[in-house]
Amino acid sequence: MDRAKKIKILHLENNGIDAELVAFALKEQSYHVDIYVTDEKDLFCKKLDKEKYDLILMDYDTPELSASDAITLIKAKKIKTPIIIISGPIGYQKTVQLIKQGAFDYVLKENLAGLADTVSRALKEDHHKTDDAKDDDSAALKVTKTGVFRVDIKTGHCLSMNGPLCQMLGYTKEECGDEGWLKCIVSAEKTNFKKEFERNLKSQLPFEMIVRLVTKKSNQIWVRCNCIPEITAEKMEYIGVIVDITHLKKTEDELVNLSMHDVLTGLPNRRSFAEAVQAMVNECERGLLDSFAVFYMDLDRFKTVNDMFGHQCGDELLKQAAARFKSSIRQYDIISRIGGDEFLLVFKHVSSIGEIAFLADNLLNKFRVPFYIGEHECLTTLSIGAVYVHGPIESIDAESIIQKADQALYRAKARGRNCYEIYTDNISHEIQHTAFIENALRHAIAKDELKIFFQPEIDLLKSNIFGFEVLLRWQQPVYGDISPGIFIPIAEESGQMKEIGGWVIDAALNAFENLFSDSAYFRNHNVSLSVNISPMQLLEEDFIDQLIKKMKSKNIVRGRVIFELTETGLIQNVEQLKTQFNHSAANELFFAVDDFGTGYSSFTHLKELPIKIIKIDQSFVQSIQTDANCKNIIKSIITLAKSMDITLIAEGVETQEQVDFLYSNGCHILQGYFFSEAIPLEGLAVYMQNFKI
Ligand code: C2E
Ligand code: CA
Ligand code: CA
Repeated sequence: MDRAKKIKILHLENNGIDAELVAFALKEQSYHVDIYVTDEKDLFCKKLDKEKYDLILMDYDTPELSASDAITLIKAKKIKTPIIIISGPIGYQKTVQLIKQGAFDYVLKENLAGLADTVSRALKEDHHKTDDAKDDDSAALKVTKTGVFRVDIKTGHCLSMNGPLCQMLGYTKEECGDEGWLKCIVSAEKTNFKKEFERNLKSQLPFEMIVRLVTKKSNQIWVRCNCIPEITAEKMEYIGVIVDITHLKKTEDELVNLSMHDVLTGLPNRRSFAEAVQAMVNECERGLLDSFAVFYMDLDRFKTVNDMFGHQCGDELLKQAAARFKSSIRQYDIISRIGGDEFLLVFKHVSSIGEIAFLADNLLNKFRVPFYIGEHECLTTLSIGAVYVHGPIESIDAESIIQKADQALYRAKARGRNCYEIYTDNISHEIQHTAFIENALRHAIAKDELKIFFQPEIDLLKSNIFGFEVLLRWQQPVYGDISPGIFIPIAEESGQMKEIGGWVIDAALNAFENLFSDSAYFRNHNVSLSVNISPMQLLEEDFIDQLIKKMKSKNIVRGRVIFELTETGLIQNVEQLKTQFNHSAANELFFAVDDFGTGYSSFTHLKELPIKIIKIDQSFVQSIQTDANCKNIIKSIITLAKSMDITLIAEGVETQEQVDFLYSNGCHILQGYFFSEAIPLEGLAVYMQNFKI
């Protein structure tokens, strides 16, 4: 049918958005359509009676009228308009039922890209139908292009094949001989099928069989044959009807494939993964397999990439990540995507916990290399929770193994991500489930459960307090104190960081105001407050303006409040942040790079941003005594920072040895338990008053 011509469509659908999507899909494929949408039975009937439509579309289960009832109704009215079902995956059985009832075909709501094709086939078919009907009104079988054949029950010989059947196969009856259409059955299935077919003939009952044929042109087609016995005094025969169901079979395969595979990456989905793991459990129980390990993995900060670059980039990243996983495993290992940015992996034959560590490290390293998506460079590290299954195992199933891996993953994330955790039994007791935290966090501000504490940063050169880092504390009534290391990432992922971060900033600026008026030390020594901010906050369009406004309203001068951004957060968002920082007003603010050394950033990046301070990550500081390499890293950070006129602060300082090393190498502002833990606001004035070094 000519796409320029307007097609009149009646659409039975109760979901307005779905109806719009269908209209959009058709228009996008250059169809001119005039669609009437309704979900009311009466209206639907009235329209059928009064108007003539080219096409009827229907949802599978509109509340007032199911597709099946609607088709019955249409057939009762002797309306021949082609019907297409548009619905969610309703299952092969149901589809076949509807098609048997008279629907032309069926299209998945999730895959409307195929709709235009189906519509064009339906309209063409309708066109032929009317032509054929004109030629020969009585030839119902010809109209439906159904193949028909006859078989002699006694001999099993094919007696006749009609035109459409010969056309379907490309062979004449003569070419097929006594075997008839059975000659075309694919060779691997032929013997079995023929045996079964003959057995059915002997039963003298109606039967149905489905089989694959090879046509003269070497095309494979799926057919369904329905056979009915015709037994009279003169003859003992079967009459059979053959229908080409290739397109249905394809849908069925797609459905099976869909239900076992993740559409985006083509990897097995959770269901098929769980089945594979269950099979391994069974093998272990029977002593056929010695061991395996399940990894539950999550891409760190994937949500940020998605939010910033859009879903298409997010999808591309997932595809590239899937490819990276695939290239990291052996043939008999399985990687699967279970939704969002979560992946499951099973390694077969793992000899020890040590090997798990090796495999996990290997994966972590692979994800430390950035992804390139269009012109964007994205760094998305990995967090891994692993479970080791080995030895004689009893009463364990795939689901509980996956759950344990999930708990271990949760731990890895709480430890700061970009790392792995191996499950041990005790973590399930202490685990605080993400869902619980996410929920409780929603009320934390309203219930006044959040508090800020202040950890001093000591300037050894000037023998005074350089500033205080503002650290958030959550006093949760059921779980007690929950570390920000645990709840901040959850707040970020669940979109609560804007509110919580905003609360911290307000609390810190109020504290500044109080300290400034109450403490002479604070005023006179230019003591600063340093507030941690999450990249989520900085991505708010007017974040910088708001911040400056707030600072001005409290008369806080430039540099007295510093904003800390972790190096990883900074690097992952560097392009977006540049525009924020280029904002002329950004120069009014002082920024510090937190956890420096963990994010693989380069100093060139830093040069482009208004960074005034670098905080050397505590992991380097804490390895000073044990790792010569760390000493060298710290030394080079110090040299570079000096050359760029950036102030350095070392975090996590716990011992005299660390103090000596840092101080003698030129880093003289130090923070850590060696000097003080974080102090509540009430204790600050006294701390400053008594401060001496
Ligand atoms: P951070 O910014 O690296 O903060 C330093 C963390 O190290 C703090 O943990 C602090 O208590 C701890 N620490 C200080 N001195 C020592 C030491 O000598 N040894 C050891 N082992 N640890 C030390 P805390 O308060 O649990 O905070 C954890 C992380 O949570 C922070 O790491 C920061 O990334 C995040 N965070 C805390 N408050 C906020 C906030 O208000 N907003 C945002 N976005 N993040 C926050
Ligand atoms: Ca910090
Ligand atoms: Ca830090």
